[in-house]
Amino acid sequence: MLVTVRGIVVSLKDTGENDRILKIITEDLGVISIYARGVRKLNGKNSSAAQLFAYARFCLNESGDRYYLESSETICVFYDLRSDLKRLALASYLADVVKYAVMAGQPSSETMQLLLNSLSFLSEGTRSCELLKSVFEFRFACCTGHMPRLMGCDECYAYEAEEMYFAFDEGRLYCGDHISCCGSDHIRVSPVVLHTIRYICLSEFKKIFYFDLKGKSLSELSIISERYLLGVLHHEQGFGTLDFYRSMLE
Ligand SMILES: [Zn+2]
Repeated sequence: MLVTVRGIVVSLKDTGENDRILKIITEDLGVISIYARGVRKLNGKNSSAAQLFAYARFCLNESGDRYYLESSETICVFYDLRSDLKRLALASYLADVVKYAVMAGQPSSETMQLLLNSLSFLSEGTRSCELLKSVFEFRFACCTGHMPRLMGCDECYAYEAEEMYFAFDEGRLYCGDHISCCGSDHIRVSPVVLHTIRYICLSEFKKIFYFDLKGKSLSELSIISERYLLGVLHHEQGFGTLDFYRSMLE
């Protein structure tokens, strides 16, 4: 049976003489594995779509529980990502998160769009890596069923008290008067960063990349988004690609 999907390549593994097994994220089928024959040949007909981060239309032959690549039409390969090691490292981490956390068969329209927009901004190089990373981390958590509880303090519902704390367990908030009720790891969150977290998680999708944050506030956001996402994914030890990206910042 032939199926056509739009997808982004999030990992690849060379196999045989000229073949590759690709993992792609699609809107309707989640992350699936595709067997792609002959794509490592120079000028192979599907070579362009069989690269990491390629965004393409894939025509697949579904046979048993496997997909075989029949033909493809490349939409974008984000070539400029390769010109900057830091941006490339961050893109690799985002792809790793998707590969790790999105299952086959899981509808993933917003998740795919999130990765697509992140790769697009990274490729353009017009936005800060740390900002893109935090937007991706918080919104990815929301897309995969881990929306933080941002309405207010978990005890008294205060939306914005003088002191506010973000608890990593389920993303609860506590005010200064009720932080003693918090049973998990937590961190004090400044008003501007709390506002930003709400903006990323609760805004319409098309707005989430359009704000700016710098300096200490961006560092604060970055610590919270990374730790929250790794926590909800139960991947506290982190990803190798994340370690590599971090090493680029030093
Ligand atoms: Zn409270």
